[in-house]
Amino acid sequence: MKLEEMIGEIEALSTTCSCGHDHHHIPIEKMVISSDAFSTCTSFLLKKSFKRVLLVADHNTFEAAGEKLEETIRNANIECSVCLIEPNKIGDVVADEVSIVQALLEMDEHTDALLAVGSGTLHDITRFCSAKSGKPFISIPTAASVDGFTSIGAPLIIRGVKKTFQTVSPIALFGDIDVLVNAPKEMTAAGFGDMLAKYTSLADWNFGRFIADEPYCPLAASITKEALENCVDKADKIAAGDEEGIRILLTSLIQSGLAMLVFGQSHPASGGEHHLSHYWEMEFLQKNRRQVLHGAKVGVSSVLLATLYHKWCESGELLPKALNDRSDKIAEIVERIPNEEKLTALLKQVGGPTTPEELNISGQLVERSLKEAHLLRDRFTMLKCYNIKLSQ
Ligand SMILES: [Zn+2]
Repeated sequence: MKLEEMIGEIEALSTTCSCGHDHHHIPIEKMVISSDAFSTCTSFLLKKSFKRVLLVADHNTFEAAGEKLEETIRNANIECSVCLIEPNKIGDVVADEVSIVQALLEMDEHTDALLAVGSGTLHDITRFCSAKSGKPFISIPTAASVDGFTSIGAPLIIRGVKKTFQTVSPIALFGDIDVLVNAPKEMTAAGFGDMLAKYTSLADWNFGRFIADEPYCPLAASITKEALENCVDKADKIAAGDEEGIRILLTSLIQSGLAMLVFGQSHPASGGEHHLSHYWEMEFLQKNRRQVLHGAKVGVSSVLLATLYHKWCESGELLPKALNDRSDKIAEIVERIPNEEKLTALLKQVGGPTTPEELNISGQLVERSLKEAHLLRDRFTMLKCYNIKLSQ
């Protein structure tokens, strides 16, 4: 799907989708990735008659994009203030209660709209504030690093626990291609990792639908699958990191976000691999360790789960006894996940980490997370089923 036609195409498809769920209308009015995205953004603000906006950025994203955006907006005589989210005491900008309160304090009743300038964390802070205040927000991605730009879920750390809140999507998205191409390489690799994670998330979703009647939507699944396949087919271009590659990756990430948006929940894009990543993130916070990029973690956790699921399936001890008659179906689902070698090769091609050691995650933490991460969510993944089987 092309970015410009994506919303129209998805909305057209959702009218004929057979799943019976209420498909959410996509409230995004415009999505642009271009070299003059910031002036297009400014024209959009003028068209909406926004007189006063607040940029939410951190020191790095302000330097990379915020400064130029602020100038472009001010030149159009729109008042523009800037909220620079401060890092925590170990130097990480985190979507937690402290950052949220900082952003809320810097908004006032005259603010017409918020602009999230950055990657996932800044979007999560902004989308939460947008939902609480009722003021719309606009997405300004500065790196093709996550798929959450266009979704409604905001994973936040509250009192040290990672919890996802259903908030709002942006009303528009403007990505400056030069900013995106110049983003650090590891952020592009992380975005690719977040896309590869869809192999295990889609498998977990399919599994949960058959085994535990998890809500399912074939449209959201096929949108996610298309985004994933497009990325894998063009991995060489993404690895090159040029305009074309970055555009392909960001378009896929946006598409995956829209799948979550039409479905209303994160099932298509987040399975056991995301639960492992959330578990590691909470552990890092508790131990005062610097955070690792979300997509880097889920790339690695997808490899771990692919390995585990294939082994589990081959061992023939797939399911709790009551579900033994479904083992063929489950084997079919697992077979669609590439094996460890294939996933590792893809991640390496784009320059992402492939093992927990590369992220300084100990074998001990990996073991513990494989046993406990499924407890973070009710979602019935194969990781959860595997643990239930172990405890029988
Ligand atoms: Zn993700």
